[in-house]
Amino acid sequence: MTGPALASRSLSRLADGLAVEASAQEPLAPKTSLRVGGAAELFVRPRTPDAVVALLRRAREAGQPLHVLGGGANTLAGDGGIPGLTLKLPADLFAEEHQALEDGGLVTLGAGAAIVRLVNQMRVRGLVGAEFLAGIPGTLGGALAMNAGTKQGECVQVLDAVELATPDGVGWVARSELAISYRHTALPPHAVALRVRFRLRQGDVEASRAAMDADLAYRKRTQPLNQPNCGSVFQNPPGDFAGRLIESVGLKGHTLGGARISELHANWIVNLGDAAARDVAGLIALAQARVHEASGIRLVPEVQRVGVFT
Ligand SMILES: Cc1cc2nc3c(=O)[nH]c(=O)nc-3n(C[C@H](O)[C@H](O)[C@H](O)COP(=O)(O)OP(=O)(O)OC[C@H]3O[C@@H](n4cnc5c(N)ncnc54)[C@H](O)[C@@H]3O)c2cc1C
Repeated sequence: MTGPALASRSLSRLADGLAVEASAQEPLAPKTSLRVGGAAELFVRPRTPDAVVALLRRAREAGQPLHVLGGGANTLAGDGGIPGLTLKLPADLFAEEHQALEDGGLVTLGAGAAIVRLVNQMRVRGLVGAEFLAGIPGTLGGALAMNAGTKQGECVQVLDAVELATPDGVGWVARSELAISYRHTALPPHAVALRVRFRLRQGDVEASRAAMDADLAYRKRTQPLNQPNCGSVFQNPPGDFAGRLIESVGLKGHTLGGARISELHANWIVNLGDAAARDVAGLIALAQARVHEASGIRLVPEVQRVGVFT
């Protein structure tokens, strides 16, 4: 156990004797793309799938809350930190696997691996289908949980199956058994995605590369990628765009503490350098209130708020 302050004794015992690296009061800001937030009370990196199951079981028995952190690219961690256990899968918990099919291939990767690893596999194997994931930061577990995507497509379209760890063990679940909607996959309670299998197809590799290059260039032009952010803050309401609605109520560029509604894209909030989570949460609440007042539309945050907000 490392860390400036010990977690409560009963909490820190959850990791005892397991194949994990654990640290108390682990700062979350460096682990999230917004660079805000307090500390994880107990931060655990399991080194084996068995350790994940054991942790889930112990957390359930002890009644301790458990949060799974991926790349933190869609996470707003509260300034008061995350109580209980925060679990982060290492990127290299599993080797990549590929199974050739007549018309494509199945690619299986660890859920803790970066999304870009899938894109690399697509390039290496000469497969196509997941171009829309190319510019999205974070892990494959996060992409699954968020059903990440763009106007061009979403994770569910290339998902084949997911291997889930629960307190009761490990098993594969087919895509057809999961309820997946816009920016959300309903995973069973206390479930952690361990591996994700994607079904890719044979196709025009040159067109695939050109589409990814065009997407990355578009992102550079239209998104404030040089400041800490979490991508789109709100889901787009049916038939409209959150950014357009926020801009229409005059909030583009609005600043609260160290956070600002981006001047480049009103559905993005950027950290100017010293933002607190409460600044970001304050801008979210302000945008929701103003947009609702003006249009009756309730903006639903896409960013996952976790932990204690002060
Ligand atoms: C610059 C930028 C651009 C972005 N562009 C897009 C975009 O175009 N489209 C888009 O959809 N998103 C976009 N995002 C948001 C983000 O990249 C995606 O939501 C991504 O899928 C988040 O992955 P993550 O690993 O960082 O998730 P995290 O933020 O760590 O977690 C998100 C959610 O997933 C859950 N989760 C993570 N791993 C697991 C696991 N192994 N098992 C179970 N649950 C898990 C977490 O508990 C949490 O609820 C962008 C973000 C940034 C910073």
